[in-house]
Amino acid sequence: MSESFMEKVTCPYCHIQHEFKKWILIDTGSDPDLYDEVRSGETFKFVCPSCTSTYDMNYPFAYHEPENRLFIMYANNSEDYEKARRILSGEVPSEQEAINEILGRQGYKKRLVYGREEFYEKLLLFDRGLDDGVMEIVKLIYGENLAKTQKEDLFAAVRYEKDDEKEDGVFFLMKEGQRVGKVNIDEKIYDWVISNYFDRIIENISDTFIVNFFWARNVVQGRQQ
Ligand SMILES: [Zn+2]
Repeated sequence: MSESFMEKVTCPYCHIQHEFKKWILIDTGSDPDLYDEVRSGETFKFVCPSCTSTYDMNYPFAYHEPENRLFIMYANNSEDYEKARRILSGEVPSEQEAINEILGRQGYKKRLVYGREEFYEKLLLFDRGLDDGVMEIVKLIYGENLAKTQKEDLFAAVRYEKDDEKEDGVFFLMKEGQRVGKVNIDEKIYDWVISNYFDRIIENISDTFIVNFFWARNVVQGRQQ
């Protein structure tokens, strides 16, 4: 079951106060419409009834896809990130009973993400049936190879995103939140990473919920999480 509450929001354009529905737990099982609305950004969009201005409401929430046994906690600042980390690790219970119930389930992919880019990247990977751990290593390999052959300051991160022209996922080179380049993914590398790092990925991914660049670097360097 999804959980939400109404919050008073003052429109930054016309300064009139309105109510906005904030989600604590987004559950696509009880609210199937949210599946697409989350992906389009509709769920987080505030449309001012007075002046029709729209803006994005960025706040922490939990996302649950029971059909795919997926649970993601989202944070957009370090305080909320730490709070979510403690809940996911079992250090403290969530104030939401529904979240504690989901966390007790077995065979789930549980993730903690920071910021919208990482959230949408995870959703896209899972939608495509790709493993995010394998893909983080693929991204690391691409990034390192590109840094060797190109100017170091060309980009800051590699991101798996939807291509505007084609539906395929491609790697975008990101700098200061902007796309500065594009690389097509060689599918052979995905399989190569699975065959080379399979044991270490299994070993490192089972108990963790933070699967990002640092996780991938530790796996590749053979360090235990
Ligand atoms: Zn307004």
